[in-house]
Amino acid sequence: MGLKVLVVGGGAAGMMAAGVAAQQEAEVLLLEKNAQLGKKLLLTGKGRCNLTNDCEIEELIANFPDTGAFLYSAFYTFSNQRLRRFFAQLGVPTKVERGGRVFPESNSARQVVAALKKFLQDHQVKINLNTAVDKLLLAGNRIEGVQASSGKQYLADRVIFTPGGAAYPSTGSAGDGYRILEELGHTIQSVQPSLVPLEVQEGWVQKLQGLTLKNVEARLYLAEQLKGTEFGELLFTHFGLSGPIILTLSRQVEDLLAAQGLLTIEIDLKPALDHHKLDARLKRDFQKYSRKQFKNSLGDLLPSKLIPIIVELAVIPATKVVNQITKEERYSLVELLKSFSLTITGTRGFRKAIVTKGGVDTDEIDPATMESKLIKGLFLAGEVIDIDAYTGGYNLQAAFSTGYVAGSSVIN
Ligand SMILES: Cc1cc2nc3c(=O)[nH]c(=O)nc-3n(C[C@H](O)[C@H](O)[C@H](O)COP(=O)(O)OP(=O)(O)OC[C@H]3O[C@@H](n4cnc5c(N)ncnc54)[C@H](O)[C@@H]3O)c2cc1C
Repeated sequence: MGLKVLVVGGGAAGMMAAGVAAQQEAEVLLLEKNAQLGKKLLLTGKGRCNLTNDCEIEELIANFPDTGAFLYSAFYTFSNQRLRRFFAQLGVPTKVERGGRVFPESNSARQVVAALKKFLQDHQVKINLNTAVDKLLLAGNRIEGVQASSGKQYLADRVIFTPGGAAYPSTGSAGDGYRILEELGHTIQSVQPSLVPLEVQEGWVQKLQGLTLKNVEARLYLAEQLKGTEFGELLFTHFGLSGPIILTLSRQVEDLLAAQGLLTIEIDLKPALDHHKLDARLKRDFQKYSRKQFKNSLGDLLPSKLIPIIVELAVIPATKVVNQITKEERYSLVELLKSFSLTITGTRGFRKAIVTKGGVDTDEIDPATMESKLIKGLFLAGEVIDIDAYTGGYNLQAAFSTGYVAGSSVIN
């Protein structure tokens, strides 16, 4: 009889860990609370699954702002290139897109999940679906197994615990792991939604719903103190702001909302032009449309959906004939276009967060094996650990790398 290994959670980290442990002749049972495996994986990359990023390992690490150093060993053991080879061998060749983002050539997250399921099947991993684990069973400081919410106990030599974080609970990762591990003495670093859309106070934002702005700069301010700057793509929604640069800035927002002062995002709609150049540009446009009303003069400069809002917010009356606009009025328009400001009132919360910031303290996990330093035979992997990155494929790489390390370390 081989070593008995239980894996809790059939997401990215759990499927990788289960297959790798089984490859080494362990007898593996995977317990998943949903009726299917990889429910979150199917949603990743808008259904295309941004598996990893084709960058140097140092850059992978740098994309984890707080705890990247913990992942050093895991990333060198199971790198992004190795992950790509792993999927290619499973019949999922990958391609690199803008920003180094790696996707399956098929653009199909479904194909990724199917390949992982085949990986499990090929190595005789047993799978129990609809099985929520409620408790870890210990004998002293050694793991003995787990107890499901039905009361049923499963005994094992090793447990790999990969229940995910608290983000997007509709996919199964509802924060169960934090409670279960805290009860056993693990420290949970403050858990917050990250990579999450932001809600704003300004009601007019609804009128911009669906508008994407490319190549803009967003600046996050708390009480007029700059807290972060991002350049790239932004999306207006019916409640506020989303899109890559907003998701990146969102990582700080829960903390900043708890602090004193007004939280705002200023959008520079024309970052390629400084105030002087933008003024010269406006002057040219105003000459071209000198006989039109102000509200009909911005079509060369701004997307049509944005024009009525800018006109509403500008000090210039909408119907003023352009050749009557004063220099001061034009300057104030430049200021508005360079510092288009919205007040942040909240985030969309865990329900809509892509990832969880916080989780099991990395100091309590051996980075070379993913074994808990508190409980022998218990291995942790994936988002339940205090590791979170920006968008670009880094979060899945971390789940797969830590899953791989946990799966290959159980046997020693
Ligand atoms: C909409 C969306 C899009 C994303 N897109 C990307 C992307 O393109 N690229 C990227 O790098 N990252 C992306 N992410 C983040 C990435 O999906 C996660 O970081 C990653 O899936 C974490 O893997 P995991 O295995 O730790 O957790 P999960 O994938 O969440 O898996 C955890 C599993 O454990 C199960 N489980 C939980 N509790 C229990 C329990 N008590 N008993 C039994 N089973 C349990 C859950 O049902 C779940 O199946 C995205 C996230 C979201 C929400």
